Amino acid sequence: MSRTLPIPARPTREPENAAWLGCLIEAATPGEVGTLIENLFQSQPGCLQARVLRLDVQSEHPEAPTSAEELLLAQEATRAVDGVKVSVDGRQYALSLLNEERVVLLLMLSAEGSAKTVLANAGPYLQLGVRQLHHAIKLADLYDSHSQLEHSENLQRALFAISDLAGSNLDMPEMLREIHRIVSGLMYAENFFIVRYHPERETLRFLYYADINDQDQPDTNRDIRLEDRQHTLTWYLLAQGKPLMGSNEQLLEQVDGPLILSGPDSDDWLGVPMLHNGQVLGALVVQSYGSGIVYSRDDLALLEFVGSHILTALARKESKDELELRVRQRTEELDRVNRGLRQEVRERHRAERLQEALFQIAQLATADIDENTFYERVHTVVGRLLDAKNFFIALLSDDRTKLEFPYYMDAGVHHTLTRPIGRGLSEYVLRRGQPWSGSREDIMELARKGEMVPHHIGEPSVCWLGVPLKVDEAVIGLVVVQSYDKNTSYGAPEQELLSFVALQIANSIYRRRSAAALHMANLRLEHRVEERTRELRAEIVRREQMQQQLHHQVMHDPLTGLPNRGYLRERLDRVLQRIQGEPNRRCALLYMDIDRFKVINDSLGHLAGDEFLKAIAMRLLTHVREPDMVARLSGDEFAILLEDIEMIATATAIADRVLQAVAVPLRISGKELEPSVSVGIACGDASYLDADELIRDADMALYQAKQLGRKRFAVFDEALAKDMVDVLAMESELRKALRQNEFEPHFQPIYRLADNKVVGYEALIRWNHPQRGLLKPHDFVKIAEDSGLIEAIDWRLFELSCRLLAQQAPSDLFITFNVSALHLRHTDFDTRVLKMLERTGLSPSRLITEVTEGALLDNPESVRTVLDRLRIAGVGAALDDFGTGYSSLSYLHSLPLRMLKIDRAFVLELDKDGRSNSTTVVAAILALAHALNIQVIAEGIETQAQLDTLLSMGCEMGQGYLLGRPAPLAHWTE
Ligand code: C2E
Ligand code: MG
Ligand code: MG
Repeated sequence: MSRTLPIPARPTREPENAAWLGCLIEAATPGEVGTLIENLFQSQPGCLQARVLRLDVQSEHPEAPTSAEELLLAQEATRAVDGVKVSVDGRQYALSLLNEERVVLLLMLSAEGSAKTVLANAGPYLQLGVRQLHHAIKLADLYDSHSQLEHSENLQRALFAISDLAGSNLDMPEMLREIHRIVSGLMYAENFFIVRYHPERETLRFLYYADINDQDQPDTNRDIRLEDRQHTLTWYLLAQGKPLMGSNEQLLEQVDGPLILSGPDSDDWLGVPMLHNGQVLGALVVQSYGSGIVYSRDDLALLEFVGSHILTALARKESKDELELRVRQRTEELDRVNRGLRQEVRERHRAERLQEALFQIAQLATADIDENTFYERVHTVVGRLLDAKNFFIALLSDDRTKLEFPYYMDAGVHHTLTRPIGRGLSEYVLRRGQPWSGSREDIMELARKGEMVPHHIGEPSVCWLGVPLKVDEAVIGLVVVQSYDKNTSYGAPEQELLSFVALQIANSIYRRRSAAALHMANLRLEHRVEERTRELRAEIVRREQMQQQLHHQVMHDPLTGLPNRGYLRERLDRVLQRIQGEPNRRCALLYMDIDRFKVINDSLGHLAGDEFLKAIAMRLLTHVREPDMVARLSGDEFAILLEDIEMIATATAIADRVLQAVAVPLRISGKELEPSVSVGIACGDASYLDADELIRDADMALYQAKQLGRKRFAVFDEALAKDMVDVLAMESELRKALRQNEFEPHFQPIYRLADNKVVGYEALIRWNHPQRGLLKPHDFVKIAEDSGLIEAIDWRLFELSCRLLAQQAPSDLFITFNVSALHLRHTDFDTRVLKMLERTGLSPSRLITEVTEGALLDNPESVRTVLDRLRIAGVGAALDDFGTGYSSLSYLHSLPLRMLKIDRAFVLELDKDGRSNSTTVVAAILALAHALNIQVIAEGIETQAQLDTLLSMGCEMGQGYLLGRPAPLAHWTE
């Protein structure tokens, strides 16, 4: 700001010049000196105007050139060697007064004026003036730089103060007030506010707000959403990140949108954003109301500068506050933890003590001490942990009617008592099976509810705690503590402790009881084991006896008492083994089969059969001496083992003796029988490895003996073995023949002898053997019967014969076929025959079945039934080979016979000279048959004489080679 000085009069006259000089001496500022210099020239004639100008430096006086022309002229003057420059028209004259300070004198001359004259007139004064100007400028510059220094120092101090604030102990509001004070020292900042902005949350807060006019100041403790302040000056500051300054109109120009003015209208407003790394984090605002104060660019720059420092200070303060807060929180937290830990340590100590007590109790429970000592010690341990001066244990008696107190301590006195179950507190606990604790009032309450009836030994307790004793969930008693001390109470920890004690007591009781029970059980067990051992010994003896008996039974035949097949095999095995060691030794096995035993058994009954067998066994035994043995192998099979023979003749001699001995007539069930046996002999030498081989060979020899006509013996040799092998081969051939239909019937005509007319045919089987040609029954029927194949073969033949007859023979002719004994064992034989007849289309009346006595022997009753049914159906029956059997005549009465066939043996005898025995027999047969209305067929008529005799004797029918040999049916029908 410049000072106003009086312009001195022109120094044209001395007194005037003296005054000018006086003024010059007085002049202190460059402006005053400049004005005096100007005055000096302007009073000169020929000079229209004089101006002192200063280039480069912004100052009020000497002032800067005001036009481009002036500037150019002044600059040229400063550069000119002589320091003078004259304008083009010569009217303007520039003279460099101070080169260093770049001060120029500019003269405007009139038309008649001359620079030279003007300068000459002013010369001495000018020198003085210039010197003075030089001093004044120097001084002014000094002042200037001093005040600038002062300003910077102020600023510096302010900034230090601001940054000091961050580290001070002031709280935030105090610090903000201090900032306000500092800013106020730098500029007019009566109305000042600080905004803090959190870009991540997009919220702002007026941290500090000082305003002399604003009644409605914002809350400095609350965050505001930025968008809630949209289009206000603060919002623009934060959003645009640029300073805003000026009056309302000027401000409106600086924003990119509508402007909402909040708060009282200000004359001038200056706001700067506070930035960190280009990011807006707040703003500072100062404003003035009615004071005429207008903020300058310097103020703006200053505020911006201060702003960044304030931001740093705020951030530091905030983080310091936050750190302090965190430290405080952490300290509190640690404090809390510390307190918890101390509590835990206390708990641990308590738990350790508890643990130790519980451990002691657990040890006691298994210690080898008597029950009383156990209870006493438990009491002592419990007493260390809780008030247990009064302590008792009660147990239910075995019958659960009494409470026994094995340990009862009350008021320091030991009681022994037992009482019946009542309704006390103890019973209450026992009933519920749950621990119960309570004060005297709780007990009274229970009594009021009727849960229990109080009864006390001495005074009632102040508090009571009882826990049931349980073994496998069953309550066996309880343990109780009670106190008469008003300061005692039992809570959850006490209950927990006593529950543990109860568990251990129960365990101990259980252990003691089970040890006793175990001891008893052991005693019982030992006793039982002894008893059982005795029983077992007896049992073993019994078993041994039984086994021996059984062995005997197993090895002997119960009927005759003779060794059985198993025994024989064992013995034979041993004998053969010995022979293996002594190759010159040999043994013999006589395998015997009673001839026709079946007939005896069937006709006389099983009891008689048994008697018969026993008698035979006796007879065999009489011909055998030790070590030889007689065995019964099965129904009618016996064997004699001769252990050591020198030659086979010894065996045959014995066989002979046996045959004779057996043949002695025997009387059984009132009947005289003539028993006989067939004997097969096999000689055992070192070539036999086991019993079965020898038995098999002896069996083959037996078969041979039977084949040869029974009542004899046969000795096994290789040829015999080969025959047997043939039998087996034949069997398989028969099977094949059946499959390939190699059987066919041949028909032998049956004649009515009186008129020599064929009345029927007998179907006789033939086998068209592919290699051996046509085979007769003799060659294969026996084997077919033995193997059972005969049934299938027969049925094939029956069907074929019936069909042939039905189809090819005149319908008045009948057919007979031979039914083997096996068929008649089946009770459905008749139905099968009838079905077959139906199939083949042959009328039943045209069929006659031939059965032999042998077939009837098996089961006469059922054979009769079958034949009866056939008779009813129209099928007749003939008895074949009549006269060869045992008791032929008896059958004639009982069987439904239509015919009988006199065996060929009788017919053969008929043509012998004289009346033979046979003639008598045939006559008798014919007479009987006729009496019974049975027709007679004579078999095997070979000669005319036989035929004639038969005719004369009244025999109706006959068959034989004389009349016709068996041949295929076609032979007869064509
Ligand atoms: P069988 O029922 O007594 O049959 C009569 C046998 O005497 C026949 O022998 C027959 O050829 C024979 N024959 C007939 N007239 C004379 C004669 O004038 N002189 C002599 N020497 N023989 C005569 P074949 O055919 O060898 O039958 C033998 C036996 O075989 C039969 O005796 C019978 O018991 C049985 N048989 C025959 N065919 C069958 C059959 O199909 N099934 C069964 N199970 N047995 C049969
Ligand atoms: Mg026959
Ligand atoms: Mg016959």
